[in-house]
Amino acid sequence: MRILVIGSGGREHALCWKIAASPLCDKLYCAPGNAGIAAVAECVPIGVEEFDRLVAFATERKIDLVVVGPEAPLVKGIADQLRAAGVAVFGPSMKAAEIEGSKGFMKDLAAKYGIPTARYRRFTDAAEAKAFARTLPAPVVIKADGLAAGKGVVIAASHAEADAAIDDMMLNRQFGAAGDSVVVEEFLKGEELSFFALCDGDTALPLVSAQDHKQVGDGDTGPNTGGMGAYSPAPVATPEIERRIMDEIVRPAVAGLKAEGRPFQGVLFAGIMVTAEGPKLIEFNARFGDPECEVLCLRLMSDLVPALLACTDGTLKNFALRWYPETALAVVMATKGYPGSVTNGSIIRNLPPEGDDCIVFHCGTKRNAQGEIEAHGGRVLAVSALGKNVREAQAKAYALVDEIDWPEGFCRRDIGWRAIAREGK
Ligand code: AMP
Repeated sequence: MRILVIGSGGREHALCWKIAASPLCDKLYCAPGNAGIAAVAECVPIGVEEFDRLVAFATERKIDLVVVGPEAPLVKGIADQLRAAGVAVFGPSMKAAEIEGSKGFMKDLAAKYGIPTARYRRFTDAAEAKAFARTLPAPVVIKADGLAAGKGVVIAASHAEADAAIDDMMLNRQFGAAGDSVVVEEFLKGEELSFFALCDGDTALPLVSAQDHKQVGDGDTGPNTGGMGAYSPAPVATPEIERRIMDEIVRPAVAGLKAEGRPFQGVLFAGIMVTAEGPKLIEFNARFGDPECEVLCLRLMSDLVPALLACTDGTLKNFALRWYPETALAVVMATKGYPGSVTNGSIIRNLPPEGDDCIVFHCGTKRNAQGEIEAHGGRVLAVSALGKNVREAQAKAYALVDEIDWPEGFCRRDIGWRAIAREGK
């Protein structure tokens, strides 16, 4: 098979690494890829939103399967355009990806199909949004409806902060059109986890759980990021919790999307809060998480390619995947200044080679004319390892981090802390 992966992050490096290892894969391309991906795929300089060029490349090169990594091209309809050109795609249509592209749509779907989620209302009027926010106890959650690069959610500690967040989104247009409509919702208390399921439009096949670390600083302090580290499995996801997530959240959503004429093909990523009443949906995403994808790929024993294909041709029923029982843990190394502005082009030296139980995935790197690896972007590396428990996986990952010579980079030193606290008991 000839396979094209779209994207340039650690998620796409992990997907390329698994796909390249498949005996089914004869030729692997990645658009645009990065310096790490170049070790396992041929990188082609086409951006993720250059749809005409992507479709032309896929048809000219007779690509058998396109795997779309990031949400933005999905929400804008890349899968529809590729399918219209006769190319098989792992990734939802524009109408199905609205589950991530519009938080209001996602909430209405949850309400219609009885999926447990935070109490909410949608608004296009700032005064009405503020009035509803005052009916909820603080903290109150304010969400820009559209895609805002993970920054469109404000947990307002007081009603005054909620007013300010509503003004920023709706009147000052901090996130542009994404904030013209907002969701105001109740704050859910509990522990968060990420859960993933492959979908072929009809059937949902559970993958495994993971836990991300959104905040930039140790002990979950400081501003939110795209994710500073992850591990899988997440001990909070007991078999009973996973069963409830599938029965109460994932399967009703897949059936609901189908009933709405928006069958979902690809990977459904459910952000879950495990509350005192059980799992509740925080949000859906229409693609793999990053860095969750890195830890999922490390734990996956089975060939990934047949599973991706089964999503495209409706044969996911009766499919089974095998997983390593070990824990995988990824530590993200970012350029100093992240999640604020960063300077690109610093040199990363002494990157450890891939081992049996560890690999450094690249999230934002380029090779310069001298052949050196340069950092490009906020999140740059996802240093990943497998261990018999979280403590061991963490020790291995940080041993690799400490080998890397990159003075301009930093990472959190406590990835996995919740699970380690549990293991210590
Ligand atoms: P989202 O982009 O919707 O996942 O929101 C980003 C983050 O905000 C989530 O990962 C949660 O940590 C937090 N969050 C969002 N909605 C809620 C809620 N209703 N209650 C508590 N925390 C929330």
